[in-house]
Amino acid sequence: MFLPTIGLEIHIELKTKSKMFCSCLNDPLSLDDSKGKGKTPNVNVCPVCLAHPGVLPTINKEAVEAVLKVGLALSSEIPKFSKFDRKNYFYPDLPKGYQISQYDKPLCIGGELKGVKITRIHLEEDTARLLHMAKSEEQMESTLVDFNRAGVPLMELVTEPDIKSAEEALDFAKELQLILKYLGVSEADMEKGQMRVEVNISIRPEIQDSRSKIQELGTKVEIKNLNSFRAAGESIKYEIERQTELLEKGEKIIQETRGWDDIKKITVSQRTKEEAHDYRYFPEPDLPPLDLEKFDLEKLQFEIPELPAQKRARFMKEYGLNQKQVEVLVSDRFAGQFFEEAVSELQTTNYKLQTILYNYLTSDLFGLMAQAKISFKELKITPENFAELINIIDRKEISTRTAKDVLKIMLETGRDPSEIIDSENLRQIFDEKEIEEVVRMVIAENPKPVEDYKKGKENALQFLIGKAMAELKGRANPKVLEELFRKKLTS
Ligand SMILES: [Zn+2]
Repeated sequence: MFLPTIGLEIHIELKTKSKMFCSCLNDPLSLDDSKGKGKTPNVNVCPVCLAHPGVLPTINKEAVEAVLKVGLALSSEIPKFSKFDRKNYFYPDLPKGYQISQYDKPLCIGGELKGVKITRIHLEEDTARLLHMAKSEEQMESTLVDFNRAGVPLMELVTEPDIKSAEEALDFAKELQLILKYLGVSEADMEKGQMRVEVNISIRPEIQDSRSKIQELGTKVEIKNLNSFRAAGESIKYEIERQTELLEKGEKIIQETRGWDDIKKITVSQRTKEEAHDYRYFPEPDLPPLDLEKFDLEKLQFEIPELPAQKRARFMKEYGLNQKQVEVLVSDRFAGQFFEEAVSELQTTNYKLQTILYNYLTSDLFGLMAQAKISFKELKITPENFAELINIIDRKEISTRTAKDVLKIMLETGRDPSEIIDSENLRQIFDEKEIEEVVRMVIAENPKPVEDYKKGKENALQFLIGKAMAELKGRANPKVLEELFRKKLTS
């Protein structure tokens, strides 16, 4: 048996107003991302991010504060002093011929998330985007460069090799993504390249002899080009299998960088260690060292909202929801907020009514919103009106069938539920006399199903109830209606 040892390096594009070292707009999406929505390449550029001679960078305070906030949320140590360094390499997406990054004095040291230790979190600048054009008859094979992304603030988080499986790695990455969204520092959308995951993975024999204290680490392989959680998970599983097979055959694992081929579902070698870069790091001479004691950490700490882990625990305790139910509300912070605001407007506070509200929210309303492609930001229904609908259902003023119709009208118009019910005359009918009239009529008009029911076919009764319910526009109390039918058909 072999044990995997996995570490993650995660890059996050920060959602600041301007770029990392100049005042250009931080809006890197262009060309292929816009799908014709009018984004233009190379508009958010200036002499600084295009690396013209003689220009000087300035540090974006908002980006530094964003990383410090992440560090505080993940219990990292914030040192007194930090600095930027030059990472030298040549590539067409790097106009300066070096990247400003952080080498030995990162902004945040240590920390922990989901039982995984964090090594460091530092800040650097993103590269330009390269767009490889396919060969066509008119055009030669070519590569276009879009500098809108060049110089966008990029946070890098490195974990210790604490992770033992693909599941644990995904669990960590997903929780980090959620925290970043809660902190408002990045949308961390992997498909848009706002969050990029790299995996370090090695395997070693499981040592059976407990007397042996030497737990030799295996040879490390790096996997890049992972643009979805699915790809990250699949590539880890693939690498564990590939390396296990090699070791079982008695072969050696080469230290290298591999890329994920999402079509063939395999990792492929990109470069071996012999070709690895020597970045010749040295302190960035154009930027002053960062005195982190000048940052108001207390204020930043204060600005951190309730984080997902705390929210899960509180929701379970306060609302009597189970783990699965809570996750739905925690994974979408707007849904969680809507739920809480609505619950506070309920006429009685009990688990039963809160659960009814939860069910109408997560099944009925979510369903309608998905159909209409509406997000919480665009939702016309206020939490107050939603709670009012639940109160009305609880008071049995309308049937559950009518409730669904009312909710649909609320979604479309944003109208108050009581007002809809009054103006459309939708109140539930309990009055036996009013219902009985319809029951009589349905029985008279449907002799065949009546006969069938009397012969013992239960389905026939449902058919008759359906007919009557339709006649009463769904307003009849179902219990009263069914009882009346049973009474009439057996007498
Ligand atoms: Zn610029």
